[in-house]
Amino acid sequence: MRIGVIGSGIAGLVSARKLCDAGHQVTLFERQPTVGMDAHSLDIPAVDGTPMVRADVPSRMFNETQWPHLFQVYKDLGIESTAVCSSQAFCHFPGSVFLTLEQAIKPMTLAGKLLDRKAQRILGAAARLQKVGIQDLQQDDVLQSLTLEQYLRQREFSDEFIQEFLYPTLSSTVFTCSYSAVANYPAKTALSILQNLTRNTTLLKTRYGTQDATKRLLHGDIQLRLSCGVQVVERLDDQVEVRLIDGTAAIFDHVIVATQANTAGKLVSALSDSELGILGSFRYESISIYVHTDTQWMPERRRQWATFNMLVSEDRRAAMCSVWLNRFHADWDIESPIFQTINAFAEPDADKVLAKCVMQRPVVSPDSNRGWDALEAMHQEPNRRIWYCGSYAGRGTPLLESGVVSALAVVEAVETACMGSVS
Ligand SMILES: Cc1cc2nc3c(=O)[nH]c(=O)nc-3n(C[C@H](O)[C@H](O)[C@H](O)COP(=O)(O)OP(=O)(O)OC[C@H]3O[C@@H](n4cnc5c(N)ncnc54)[C@H](O)[C@@H]3O)c2cc1C
Repeated sequence: MRIGVIGSGIAGLVSARKLCDAGHQVTLFERQPTVGMDAHSLDIPAVDGTPMVRADVPSRMFNETQWPHLFQVYKDLGIESTAVCSSQAFCHFPGSVFLTLEQAIKPMTLAGKLLDRKAQRILGAAARLQKVGIQDLQQDDVLQSLTLEQYLRQREFSDEFIQEFLYPTLSSTVFTCSYSAVANYPAKTALSILQNLTRNTTLLKTRYGTQDATKRLLHGDIQLRLSCGVQVVERLDDQVEVRLIDGTAAIFDHVIVATQANTAGKLVSALSDSELGILGSFRYESISIYVHTDTQWMPERRRQWATFNMLVSEDRRAAMCSVWLNRFHADWDIESPIFQTINAFAEPDADKVLAKCVMQRPVVSPDSNRGWDALEAMHQEPNRRIWYCGSYAGRGTPLLESGVVSALAVVEAVETACMGSVS
């Protein structure tokens, strides 16, 4: 079959790879000049004799427990991984560090110094959340459709723990969104991911970076068409037409739309109200990411720098996370520090900014289940030829894993549909 895939993020790449391996003729369209998953990564030029390095933007992590399908795809393609030092520092911005962790909830003290009261209170609450969270996850009726905020209030966790530790961690790393979106996450989703991450604290990154991973995903007969923005996807009788912004068109037996849901809703013509409603039910926030050299966006004392530095705003309603890239990329051979700051709520020194990008991030709420159920039902409709996948479309937290899971589900559905049309 001739299959068109639109979008080369993880979901589009995995769909294209699997369908190509199954013997289909696959064309992958990407509107950007480079593969979507690697489109924001940055080559940092050589300075003072130091070599040029490449920073993955964003710097993404995974492990086998929370990302089993991604892990398997990478393993099958020989994409190697390496452990990341997952130390964290929490501080006020402006202000000083009040907690440093070697890895998830494992405190680090400097030169035998005892943890102060604040750090002790936060760690005590983290241990309690781990304990009651596990119990509550086993009794589904306790969580029902509670949001994370409702759950934490019900269990009487303090503002200090929520706003200066838990939300900074979730809003800057796993969920990458605002505090209000974190608060509205289903308690069950948040507790499950916290449980998985504290069970397996080793976090990995791809050893040779995203560029290498995308090359391996694309290896073989996939026809990749970069700088090819799709304008319209239109269902014909037994085929689908893809019209590009440059005015050309191509015909396929099936088309997989692997863009964000809000883009998909605009690309596909003549969608029914119900289809529009389903795609429109997935919500997004915009996240800004800076790559820079501004040490003002790090804890004041260099000896307190961790890989992930959570900087909590004075009003405790937001946190940004500065990733110390030299620590994240342990193989970099450069001295001068380079950072990547996610969720910036302040203005950086413009002279120290190497790059800025804004990314769309799906956010999950207790209503998201309805969207996932409806999307699944839509994909089971007979004679379907247009399919949707992306990290928003897999149940749970939108991460690389949900992108892979949704892609694998669509591949299976397309294969079944193809077998039906052959017989
Ligand atoms: C700051 C940050 C940190 C993150 N950290 C992690 C992490 O540590 N671990 C993890 O698992 N996940 C992480 N994520 C999430 C993860 O990066 C995303 O969930 C995932 O990359 C989304 O993949 P996708 O394929 O769904 O969509 P995208 O990557 O958004 O792909 C969609 C593609 O479609 C293309 N497109 C759109 N419209 C058109 C068109 N008209 N024609 C052609 N092409 C089009 C776009 O250019 C894009 O390339 C992070 C996200 C952010 C923002």
